[in-house]
Amino acid sequence: MSIKKEFIVVVEDETDIREVLVYNLEREGYRVASARDGKQGLAMIQEKQPDLVLLDLMLPGLDGLEICKRLKGDDQTSSIPIVMVSARGEESDIVVGLELGAEDYISKPFGTRELLARINAVLRRREPQSDKKLSQRIDCAGVTIDVGRHQVSVDGLPVSLTATEFKLLHFLAHHPGWVFTRDHLLSRIMGDDNFVVDRNIDVHIQAVRKKLGAHRNLIETIRGIGYRFKERNES
Ligand code: CA
Repeated sequence: MSIKKEFIVVVEDETDIREVLVYNLEREGYRVASARDGKQGLAMIQEKQPDLVLLDLMLPGLDGLEICKRLKGDDQTSSIPIVMVSARGEESDIVVGLELGAEDYISKPFGTRELLARINAVLRRREPQSDKKLSQRIDCAGVTIDVGRHQVSVDGLPVSLTATEFKLLHFLAHHPGWVFTRDHLLSRIMGDDNFVVDRNIDVHIQAVRKKLGAHRNLIETIRGIGYRFKERNES
């Protein structure tokens, strides 16, 4: 067993699920505290300032989205990463949660391995870099993005992207494994200058995928939620 010091708060009203979560996290070496309703959960997070929150969306009292909103809207808690735990059919809530600033989500039913992988990934990337610090060159599975030169090559051959497509690909590729909603991506490619672009993000994604050719699957569609760039270690 590896010793991890991260402290996780689990907010989940279903006793069985809560107990399984706590058991598995403790077995991994995390320190864990849990709450069974929204109010208790929010108070616990504010008081204990955990390293990560595992937050069920459907909760008695305050629901998960309300908790998310309050945590992300408060300087004391806004940097605490939130992984939402959702049931099937809650995709629209997940979208809202991601837009409120939640870092990730996991859908029930999920396996322990998947859960731990998500948590590890979120803890690893706790401080996403700002756009200004986006790295100058990204290499991923045959696709190279050279920011300085504004060039993309696929399997060594240059491909021509529009400014919008380039921004989109660069942003996604810089956050592998992160799911972004369409609104979030749109705000990224619009930038500050209110540059007029087609607001249909799916059209831009399709165009980028086409240019990635055999590597088009690097950009995954997450049904009902948005898009994400594959993690490098995924096959
Ligand atoms: Ca619930």
